[in-house]
Amino acid sequence: MPELPEVETIVRDLRPHLVGATVAAVEVGHPSVVRHPGLAEFLRALPGRRIERCQRRAKFIALRLDGPGSLFVHLGMSGTLTLDRPEVPARPHTHVRLRLGSGAELRYVDPRRFGRLMLGTPPELRAAGQLPPLGIEPLSPRFTAERLGAVLASTRRPLKAVLLDQARIAGCGNIYTDESCFLARVHPARPAAGLRPREVRRLRDAIRVVLRKAIRNRGSSIADYRDGFGARGAAHESLLVYGRGGAPCVRCGLPLAQSTVAGRTTVYCRGCQA
Ligand SMILES: [Zn+2]
Repeated sequence: MPELPEVETIVRDLRPHLVGATVAAVEVGHPSVVRHPGLAEFLRALPGRRIERCQRRAKFIALRLDGPGSLFVHLGMSGTLTLDRPEVPARPHTHVRLRLGSGAELRYVDPRRFGRLMLGTPPELRAAGQLPPLGIEPLSPRFTAERLGAVLASTRRPLKAVLLDQARIAGCGNIYTDESCFLARVHPARPAAGLRPREVRRLRDAIRVVLRKAIRNRGSSIADYRDGFGARGAAHESLLVYGRGGAPCVRCGLPLAQSTVAGRTTVYCRGCQA
């Protein structure tokens, strides 16, 4: 599933091409990916709107439009949002096409269809139950060790469950949570409130290092993820623990453990993570 670095890569790729562009036409092939408003209103409301900003919030892509509202895209498990020339044949599972005034097409492709598109203002979408509460952005300057410490201190849930909780910290999924815990040398199943201040500081720094490195490497293409132009990322090539259960730890050489934490397959080192 695309996480913060993958969504950020797409947003950075698309931004120079989308900001200032006008939506000329909209085509929806599979109506179930349009969650708000209804399909007819979605098709009526988009043409003629100008895209003013292209941003990421948590794992959402938000295209701010002129007039009220934004087009929010969540990629779910297997979604991609790419900019293509109109003469390039659409790939299978292309569910939504936005033709821009420039002639280029913004295409939403999603084989498993867990992703969604929504048009509206954040309060409207929250009221409709389509936009969940979103916590602090881990790359923002406000994400300090003190702030992370306060988030962790409020719960006895396993550390990994709190890091995955989008309402508390926005954008981390299974890949980068495991990577961050490994880099910070903390066990992902520890009760969140039990971390010592120095461990919280290490974890805060690790989360930022891990996310920034993955953005530099243009995201992890483990399954379907592609960047804004349809190319694979390279971040998965340098992951230290995710997907490496049983392989030797890069730090101590012990075989990496794999178990279920917070309902998710989790890889960690018994030797390095206390
Ligand atoms: Zn180790």
